[in-house]
Amino acid sequence: MHGITPGLAVVIVGDDPASRVYVNNKKKACEVVGFKSEEYALPASTTQEELLELVNTLNNKSDINGILVQLPLPEHLDDKAVIEAINPQKDVDAFHAVNVGKIMLGEYDFLPCTPSGVMEMLHAYDIPVSGKNCVVIGRSNIVGKPMAMLLLHENGTVTICHSRTQNLTEVCKEADILVAAVGKPKFVTADMVKEGAVVIDVGMDRDENGKLCGDVDFENVKDKCSYITPVPGGVGPMTISTLMKNTLKACKIQNNL
Ligand code: NAP
Repeated sequence: MHGITPGLAVVIVGDDPASRVYVNNKKKACEVVGFKSEEYALPASTTQEELLELVNTLNNKSDINGILVQLPLPEHLDDKAVIEAINPQKDVDAFHAVNVGKIMLGEYDFLPCTPSGVMEMLHAYDIPVSGKNCVVIGRSNIVGKPMAMLLLHENGTVTICHSRTQNLTEVCKEADILVAAVGKPKFVTADMVKEGAVVIDVGMDRDENGKLCGDVDFENVKDKCSYITPVPGGVGPMTISTLMKNTLKACKIQNNL
């Protein structure tokens, strides 16, 4: 409309097959919505200095509005330092401390893609959050913590569970909305789910046959709950659509639109 095409740069270091799939999906999404996408595929031997230099170059590129560094990075690289080097206005993953802080305060430009995609699904299906018992299993900076914060912003009564949580089954059974972000295949079983609960499966795992599956034992849980998200499908595509939205927003902010 303004003659400007939003641009997303995706940086991938090394040859992790799962990361490669995620990066390809993000590039495809850019094509579908007509955004410019640039891929920077760096060898696993890339040094911290080289990666920081690339981030700095992308920070200064006016046709690039969003920068995404695919995690996890190879072990010798400091992902925290890399994220902190991204200009917060181009941090379309919303992982930079400035953006995380804004989310805590409820005054954000960007929301982290996966939790934001989950909230959008809840809205689309008119699933109320206010006053509901929401249980999030997982406390990562990428999914669990921001997920809990977004549910809290919408007045959910939120419990965060993790590997030290005691009586996990009992806690989960209280959930009206149960979000699983554990990273363990079919971890959430039917006995952990309340009748009629809404079950959101963030997991992207591999089962014993190497087949993609979620953190929830879908086949046994599906008849007990009112809603459940499948894997594949469900949360994954919502994550990508939020990334596109964030890139568009970044473009608007940077161009004062
Ligand atoms: P992560 O950093 O490994 O965090 C996993 C969390 O699960 C941790 O907080 C851990 O607790 C907790 N946990 C582990 N074992 C547990 C147990 N036995 N009981 C209760 N909690 C336990 O993983 P992540 O990055 O958040 O990702 C979680 C899953 O989501 C993965 O399958 C990942 O592939 C997937 N994912 C999907 C998308 C998408 O777009 N769909 C996006 C991002 C991630 P501690 O903190 O105590 O260790």
